[in-house]
Amino acid sequence: MTDVPAANAVPDPHGRYGAFGGQFVPETLMGALEELEQAYVSARTDAAFWTQLDDGLRDFAGRPSKLYYARRWSESTGGRRIYLKREDLNHTGAHKINNTLGQVLLARRMGKRRIIAETGAGQHGVATATAAAAYGLECVVYMGAEDVRRQRLNVYRMQLLGARVVSVESGQRTLKDAINEALRDWMESVGETHYIIGSVMGPHPFPMIVRDLQAVIGRETRTQVLEREGRLPDCVIACVGGGSNAAGMFHPFIDDTPVRLIGVEAGGESRPGRHAATIAHGRPGVLHGMQTLVLQDADGQTQPVHSVSAGLDYPAIGPEHAYWHSIQRVEYVSATDDEALDAFEWLSRTEGIIPALEPAHAIAYARRIAPTLPGGAVIVVNLSGRGDKDCVEVARLRGGAIE
Ligand SMILES: *Cc1c(COP(=O)(O)O)cnc(C)c1O
Repeated sequence: MTDVPAANAVPDPHGRYGAFGGQFVPETLMGALEELEQAYVSARTDAAFWTQLDDGLRDFAGRPSKLYYARRWSESTGGRRIYLKREDLNHTGAHKINNTLGQVLLARRMGKRRIIAETGAGQHGVATATAAAAYGLECVVYMGAEDVRRQRLNVYRMQLLGARVVSVESGQRTLKDAINEALRDWMESVGETHYIIGSVMGPHPFPMIVRDLQAVIGRETRTQVLEREGRLPDCVIACVGGGSNAAGMFHPFIDDTPVRLIGVEAGGESRPGRHAATIAHGRPGVLHGMQTLVLQDADGQTQPVHSVSAGLDYPAIGPEHAYWHSIQRVEYVSATDDEALDAFEWLSRTEGIIPALEPAHAIAYARRIAPTLPGGAVIVVNLSGRGDKDCVEVARLRGGAIE
């Protein structure tokens, strides 16, 4: 394996993770990114900022999240010890609140009264609207018109939480177009507005900020596994869409080279245009302000993506994952729609926990490799969110429509 630099060695001062990352934005946004970076650098070393965030994470979001020993699953493997990191137990049902709470506090520090965000399936929009409401900030969420139609319940939730949802009619009218529209809004409103991006992506310093805010997952896990097992885990597994729950889980383990880190992408239907496995099939390119791996055709046009789980449906990946892949520190694999659906049902029956379809990909892969690991191996799977939001869709796919 290549020498792995200290976890803090990236990004470099230009926001680059090896060949990836950077800032590929119009001139008008460079000032905003500079202001954000300065505000974050000052917040990062300010104990008062972290105390305020820790209070919010504890009292509002419900942290620390549990590390649950999956007893029946473990027993069925004949001696592997499998733990689930229960991010599904957070307020709003996923890890996304870790990021939005942190960035809302950052926005307040910067004196910004208005929050904007993009959302695909609506989960990040709901988490942003939730944090904005809790701290009394105005909130506008950009969402592709196609997603608005498909995700009525989340649109209603955001509105209930006081956010305005703007339906985006350009392009394919999905997440990618919503991000472009949010960036456009930000260009015109930087003075009073903070843009809360939903994953470890976009121009520097966003990937670093979101990673740092999600790293609470890995820090807690590290402490919890040490308490329970007296040693670090052998293997840590997380699903990868943009990559924030995985980056937050992996980052505190990056320097622990004996710990295998495995990111699971959406294999979809295992054919071109019908998956979202960016590390496996992407090529270097620029999208949404960053140099990263992008799913693109021969002409460099961004390819359509598909996954049964809306949260993994993104044609690129955070630059730090592209970097971890390039230095071979993290293994990237994929699980198909069918495997994720099976895992969704299987975990529900086996452990009494209904996972979101996104982490069902990580569960699926963990099921596949657990029996191949030595007896006594300690495996942690990040359960990034709960599956209530997916029940109607899974019922429909399984031929038992409930609506
Ligand atoms: C949004 C979402 C994801 C995918 O986003 P990442 O940035 O890759 O973490 C994964 N799991 C759940 C439950 C989500 O809501």
